[in-house]
Amino acid sequence: MTDRRDHIAANLAKVEDRIAAACAAAGRKREEVTLIVVTKTYPASDVRILSELGVRHVAENRDQDAAPKAAACSDLPLSWHFVGQLQTNKVRSVVGYADLVQSVDRSKLVTALSKEAVRAGREVGCLIQVALDAGASGRGERGGVAPEGIEELGDLVASAPGLRLDGLMTVAPLTGEYAGRQRAAFERLMDLSTDLRRAHPAATMVSAGMSADLEEAVAAGATHVRVGTAVLGVRPRLG
Ligand SMILES: *Cc1c(COP(=O)(O)O)cnc(C)c1O
Repeated sequence: MTDRRDHIAANLAKVEDRIAAACAAAGRKREEVTLIVVTKTYPASDVRILSELGVRHVAENRDQDAAPKAAACSDLPLSWHFVGQLQTNKVRSVVGYADLVQSVDRSKLVTALSKEAVRAGREVGCLIQVALDAGASGRGERGGVAPEGIEELGDLVASAPGLRLDGLMTVAPLTGEYAGRQRAAFERLMDLSTDLRRAHPAATMVSAGMSADLEEAVAAGATHVRVGTAVLGVRPRLG
């Protein structure tokens, strides 16, 4: 276990150096960017190590894995972010531990989240997940709403009891006009955030960038980066 701790600590230090360098290069203060460690597929014991090392934000993408992990770590001072595609039948469980849901992408989900947040007496922060490669359906293959859908969904979240509109999230597209152009994709997200903040000034979070492209996200102005592999290692299975 101390081996694992040393390994995670070394990786965390490298990621911290990368974020600090990206902030310096962009003329931004280090405090403007929050690291969220994506702990999907990794055990609760790793979450505990991360917490001991000073990490305060963790993210998960599957309720089946996240619910028991969050329960096992409920004594730790962590914010839990849900970042995966979310089915409405999982919403009750997710609202039980998630402080933020970053993958809000349809009105049915807003309704379900609001109902369960009120029922649980909790306030859940919401990010609208934007699909910059959305097809004609207006939705992305890995979730997310097309840019044209942000305003309506944002208004819906902002007026929903139990929910708080915190901002926008995206995953760099693998297809479409932004494929391989992370910096351009993240700059587009920033422009969409500027639009959203005209109506909702408090929705300041911009969640973008992962292990491979956190520098591009910081350069574009992201407030939150979601890093898994670079901290915990290559995942044993797709997740
Ligand atoms: C897995 C995941 C990440 C982290 O990806 P890495 O490449 O492991 O850093 C970030 N965001 C979302 C939505 C994810 O599902």
